[in-house]
Amino acid sequence: MKVVLQNLTKKFPNRGKRSNGEVVAVNNFNFEIPDGMLIGLLGPSGCGKSTTLNLLSGLEKPTGGRIFFGDDDVTDLPAEKRGVGVVFQNYALYPHLTVKENILFPLENLKGTEKLSKSQMLEKAYEAARLVQIDELMERRPSELSGGQQQRVAIARALVKRPRVLLLDEPLSNLDARLRLQTREEIRRIQRETKITTVFVTHDQEEAMSISDRIVVMNQGVVQQIGRPQEVYDDPFNLFVAKFLGTPPINVFDGRIHDHKLYIGKDALFSVGDVPEQEVYVGIRPEGFVLCGDGPLCCKMSGVEVMGRDISVVATHEASVGQTIRAIISSENRVDLEKTEVRFKLKPNKVFIFSRKTEERIVFRAD
Ligand code: ADP
Ligand code: MG
Repeated sequence: MKVVLQNLTKKFPNRGKRSNGEVVAVNNFNFEIPDGMLIGLLGPSGCGKSTTLNLLSGLEKPTGGRIFFGDDDVTDLPAEKRGVGVVFQNYALYPHLTVKENILFPLENLKGTEKLSKSQMLEKAYEAARLVQIDELMERRPSELSGGQQQRVAIARALVKRPRVLLLDEPLSNLDARLRLQTREEIRRIQRETKITTVFVTHDQEEAMSISDRIVVMNQGVVQQIGRPQEVYDDPFNLFVAKFLGTPPINVFDGRIHDHKLYIGKDALFSVGDVPEQEVYVGIRPEGFVLCGDGPLCCKMSGVEVMGRDISVVATHEASVGQTIRAIISSENRVDLEKTEVRFKLKPNKVFIFSRKTEERIVFRAD
């Protein structure tokens, strides 16, 4: 089921003491989710992810704009008529019901021509349970399950009516690290098997990057960029997107374009063709540094962290914005810890420059 968001906007009254304006939680969203895709909605807390999901599910009414499922305009349809399955962070299972009863619950409320016989309902419940691999646990109560198992029950309950669209709001946040990884792979598998168009909300960039066919990066109610995870990582439109994706994060410096060259402090990195002279931010991905005795970027060495396959060189530079610099290099490299200075050359495709004024990316051709 293709999903289309058209000029979708949601404003809330701002009840803060200082301002009596409005919060624009979702600001004029226009995008299309192709049939059968898993889309990650990604952004910091408060950027409007849950509001977007609630608009799609029908829990919230938009202030403006339309939502289409396929050719159906569902904007004015109540939640229960949209055919969506929703999973929240806090599983929200009925504690006094068994797993089986929890999964059966949405089916028992079907009315009229949709009404099912007891055996049809059981068949569907077991089918959903098998899909998330909890069919052995059907007689237990939620309190007798681990967090990961409870979340699987919640997913089975969302799938049991075969929704047209599956909506997941930070479904892994309550799980510990190992379960989070496992459940995320599980969700991916289930989505591939069912081919249900899925919207997966998270503030965790790694989670979004690993699970999604496409990510939608949001900030303060505004879509920043939409694309395949790797594309967005390799080709960020602005400083916000560049900073939000990647661990360790991108290193940001104050820089400038002078005489067709890119400078960080007094270090001239490389030629950038015909970019006009201006002050810029320079973002360098951690994997963009290459140790090089006569490299142009000269940093002060703080230390080295060895992480098996890679080494992370921790350093500082007077033009670095904020924290320390982290450069990731292969552990085959020898780093001389006695030295106070470390020099790098840079991989131009891992270096981004941004307008100091607009923070938008300035594309350049390194010569
Ligand atoms: P996220 O899920 O990305 O953390 P939300 O969608 O929950 O963000 O919230 C987006 C913005 O809308 C925030 O500024 C939040 O305070 C505001 N907001 C959300 N729900 C309401 C509401 N019911 N009333 C007023 N403001 C709200
Ligand atoms: Mg939220």
